[in-house]
Amino acid sequence: AFRPASRISAIGVSEILQIGAKASALKRSGRDVIILGAGEPDFDTPDFIKDGAIAAIRAGQTKYTALDGTPELKAAIAAKFKTDNNLDYAADEITVSTGAKQVIYNAMMATLDPGDEVIIPTPYWVSYSDIVQIAGGVPVLIPCGAETGFRLSAERLEAAITPKTRWLMLNSPSNPSGAAYSRADYKALTDVLLRHPHVWLLADDMYEHILYDGFAFSTPAEVEPRIKDRTLTVNGVSKSYAMTGWRIGFGGGPKALIKAMSVIQSQSTSCPSSVSQAAALTALTGPQDIVRERCLDFQKRRDLVVEGLNAIPGISCPKPEGAFYTFASCAGLLGRKTPDGKVIETDRDFCAWLLESHDVAMVPGTAFGLAPFFRISYATSEKELRTALDRIARAVATLA
Ligand code: PLP
Repeated sequence: AFRPASRISAIGVSEILQIGAKASALKRSGRDVIILGAGEPDFDTPDFIKDGAIAAIRAGQTKYTALDGTPELKAAIAAKFKTDNNLDYAADEITVSTGAKQVIYNAMMATLDPGDEVIIPTPYWVSYSDIVQIAGGVPVLIPCGAETGFRLSAERLEAAITPKTRWLMLNSPSNPSGAAYSRADYKALTDVLLRHPHVWLLADDMYEHILYDGFAFSTPAEVEPRIKDRTLTVNGVSKSYAMTGWRIGFGGGPKALIKAMSVIQSQSTSCPSSVSQAAALTALTGPQDIVRERCLDFQKRRDLVVEGLNAIPGISCPKPEGAFYTFASCAGLLGRKTPDGKVIETDRDFCAWLLESHDVAMVPGTAFGLAPFFRISYATSEKELRTALDRIARAVATLA
């Protein structure tokens, strides 16, 4: 019989994917389901980027490339880090992988020994803890609720650090909460790290360009240059340029770390796709106005969703600074009864019931390590969002 390795025994199939599969099945059966679960922009990759990829194919860029990124793409990434983040990274301090997910995976595989701890504030992108566990490490989850703006405080960080701590993982703007760290927020945390030189920092900046109301983006290595030599700054093209399927992410960090990560990459994927690297090069070096335009679209939708949710008694939704998610509390609905007599006891119950009874698919906060909340991805049309909000309001109105 099939026997899985022990390293995957603690890791379940992602709840987000399970809900997505259920919602898709209902849709195929003819129901008009609105899926607010997607972690990707709803618009297509811009044409000039596709053209760059097609030109690369025609020019014969169809072979293995340098192990951790073509020199051309690394140069464009170095320029991006300099222009956007005021960070200097040389070519051997940059790695390119098959999505930012592989950057994070390589970093954990290259650094964690059994029992090593990684501090992760919750709510968090679930892959963080799963990757840490696959690599043999121990995720140390720190709840950071709405009362702290879903942000980790210096006190909580200080209390969580032990001699076994290897990494702190931060993500701003955040999936799933949309919360972002200001320079001052980061400075408070890097001050703690300065007192603990054995702790490294992974900064996940995937949603850098999706920030609202003029919120100024910053990243820890820029805020505190003294921790740059133990920081991995992670970014990618998936969210900024609607390129999730191309699978290109990158990271900047100290040479020794980048080299160790390339050892892992050399025995898993050999190199990222040549064509996708050409597309990413076109994205980073081309006109950037599309990024700003999309951001304004997202901001309108955020306002629509936050306002709509807060108008529903029992639901409370803080205003996110960025990304394309809202993370609202359904604490006020727990204990209430559905028309067929079922009691809503958890955020999971609420989301499951809403999908069953009103055809709206959302992901419970439990899936991101913080209850009782639910995540809405508003990377979908305004029309669908309005219909979904209407359905949620009507559903809640039937609760006794
Ligand atoms: N980091 C965060 C916070 C994300 O939400 C995602 C994707 O959902 C990623 C990293 C990975 O992105 P990719 O592997 O597509 O580059």
